[in-house]
Amino acid sequence: LRTTANGNKDDKVLVSIRVRPSDASTAWEAQANTKSIKLLPQHHRNAATSPPIFNFDEILTGSDNKSVYNAVARNHVCAAMDGYNAVVFAYGQTASGKTFTLSGDDDQPGIIPRAMKDVFACIRRTPAREYLLRCSYLEIYNETIHDLLAPSSAPPVQLQGSGTNVWLAPLREEVVTSLAGVRAVIGRGWAARRTASTDWNDRSSRSHSVFRVVIESRERGDTSGGGRQTPGLPSRPPTPGGPRLQSIGGRSVQTSVLSLIDLAGSEKATSDKERTREGKFINTSLLTLGSVIATLAENASKGKNDHVPFRNSKLTRMLQPSLSGDARISVVCTLNPDVNAVGESTSTLLFAQRIK
Ligand code: ADP
Ligand code: MG
Repeated sequence: LRTTANGNKDDKVLVSIRVRPSDASTAWEAQANTKSIKLLPQHHRNAATSPPIFNFDEILTGSDNKSVYNAVARNHVCAAMDGYNAVVFAYGQTASGKTFTLSGDDDQPGIIPRAMKDVFACIRRTPAREYLLRCSYLEIYNETIHDLLAPSSAPPVQLQGSGTNVWLAPLREEVVTSLAGVRAVIGRGWAARRTASTDWNDRSSRSHSVFRVVIESRERGDTSGGGRQTPGLPSRPPTPGGPRLQSIGGRSVQTSVLSLIDLAGSEKATSDKERTREGKFINTSLLTLGSVIATLAENASKGKNDHVPFRNSKLTRMLQPSLSGDARISVVCTLNPDVNAVGESTSTLLFAQRIK
């Protein structure tokens, strides 16, 4: 593996590789500079040809979630604060480090808590604007969208609208004003995921979880409501292209959505049970995601207008407004360096290469 020569940070899609630490130092040789990783020849399937070389924007090793956040998500969070839709995905086989990367733990907070911390820091640095943040947390399991913030008896969330004007309903959106508020929302979501599943590990490896924050802002001013604070901001499904502005009470409101997504495990089905419905849904939605991102990247870099198959899965359909137009996309592909995972690691790299 190596990083792209002259890697262009302005690319529509940032594709990074993260290799989790291993107990066994057998399969991979992670070089000290962390910019290249070699698949040792004995683990390369076709010994007759030289191992393929993959090029990516970032190759990250180790447990430092701060540097991962800075490399793969920070710019996207800043773009979201500037009014652009932004999406960060973690893709990889189960146990490769997707949840560690996105959520992290107390010692090493992941992308979600760091992103929200930056969002609030950015708000504090911008006193001339007022902001409204609305968080939602959902899970897509078997092509059904569950609102993790709604009571478990609530009906599934439906996709409404058409074209790029898609929104979710009914969906709980919690207004948050502090990091503690965000933590509470996430805690509720995690608790809901746990109670919804008899087998937590199984469920978490088979579902996509989506943490979203809708960011609305406008310049402070006294043209409406005598200095009234943010609750007056409207709630609308966002439209693609950014920054989005609409005029309310003489002041333009900027709306963007930041989506942070822990994808279902990308591993191939290994048992009959897994070859059933669920497995097929996971395969279809991850394949569709790959096609959608690859087409978006290709359209952006080559100025093309090829059809983007958003409609082939709930995940991509739901994300259509967030991925279209001027959206910023980052995909972190996580690898388990274990020797037994070489097959899956190779398919993860092929996925990553396809969307680059
Ligand atoms: P996934 O969500 O892809 O199934 P996890 O994030 O749950 O995988 O990771 C599996 C285990 O490995 C967890 O115990 C996690 O804390 C640990 N882990 C994953 N990536 C790293 C890393 N980069 N550094 C340290 N520990 C990690
Ligand atoms: Mg996980």
